[in-house]
Amino acid sequence: MLDIKITLTQNKKEKPDQSKLGFGRYFTDHMFVMNYSDGAWRDPRIEPFHDLVLSPAAMVFHYAQEMFEGMKAYRAPDGTIRLFRPDMNAKRLNRTNDRMIIPQIPVEDFIQAVKTLVKVEEDWIPTAEGTSLYIRPFIIATDAQLGVHPAHNYSFIIICSPVGAYYAAGINPVKIFVERQYTRAVKGGTGFAKVGGNYAASLIGQKEAEDMGYAQVLWLDGIEHKYIDEVGAMNVFFVIDGEVITPTLEDGNILPGVTRDSCIQLLRSWGCKVTERKLAISEIAEANAAGKLDEAFGSGTAAVISPIGELNLDGNKMILNGGKIGPISQKLYDELTAIQWGKKEGPEGWSVVVD
Ligand SMILES: *Cc1c(COP(=O)(O)O)cnc(C)c1O
Repeated sequence: MLDIKITLTQNKKEKPDQSKLGFGRYFTDHMFVMNYSDGAWRDPRIEPFHDLVLSPAAMVFHYAQEMFEGMKAYRAPDGTIRLFRPDMNAKRLNRTNDRMIIPQIPVEDFIQAVKTLVKVEEDWIPTAEGTSLYIRPFIIATDAQLGVHPAHNYSFIIICSPVGAYYAAGINPVKIFVERQYTRAVKGGTGFAKVGGNYAASLIGQKEAEDMGYAQVLWLDGIEHKYIDEVGAMNVFFVIDGEVITPTLEDGNILPGVTRDSCIQLLRSWGCKVTERKLAISEIAEANAAGKLDEAFGSGTAAVISPIGELNLDGNKMILNGGKIGPISQKLYDELTAIQWGKKEGPEGWSVVVD
């Protein structure tokens, strides 16, 4: 159990208009902070939201020793506050930390920190349909020294941001560009870890795709540029001839999404055949040519389910399911959002009440 010291702000901010929240533009009144020094996490506290003071030599700025997580708090119709499978985020944080040689945080301490901050920021959880409080835990290396070594000092911080409904006007399938030139992750690298460096390396592909009118990039494996990894900041699923296929986590290139895992479990509970395996982009083209590519979608905390309406593969445009959302995408979206917002009972332990 953490002994969290709470210092409340004397000047609360004005809450933004719930219909104009967007994503990650407004921040709440407080933040959670805990520092690591002399071999232990210390001084867990909640303070008024404030800028950080760091040495310009702080290691995070130079060698990117850092990590982050992403999750949401939801206001249920019965008035309770819900988290969705927070233990999964805690465990993933520690797998990322191990890869980045950042000290671990006990699962129960992580969950306690998130719950305590969310409770303090309760009034910031928006109530309009589809809105939520996005939670961004992250850790940075703060040692002021330029030698390339793992740091000895870290800050673990959690900030919160009220976010709007991802689909303000109904679910809109997105256009995806299949990336042949750039690589997001490669076996032995940090693809499975939630770290900023993966994003820094991906920005150029994302920008070039956007310039061509595409919403996201579909990343292929870094060795042969042949097998599908994931799409932008989402995991990806394809439905071929009734079978749901998603790339395997085995090679360590892919971020193990909480939404991905939840989709797989729900689909299996409905009796759908779900296969986790290596999936070549050529198979997708062949299935499409044979009329067997039923639908495809991305999965992640922000959008929940993001149907793919078009895939651009080497200049050939594949239109999926007539550019409309498919039945499996729709069913998963409806079920997951109902469980997350506490409108429907999900599997044991998925919807966690903050009290
Ligand atoms: C966070 C993230 C995901 C989605 O994970 P969820 O836990 O479902 O939100 C997928 N891919 C990448 C690269 C990510 O950073």
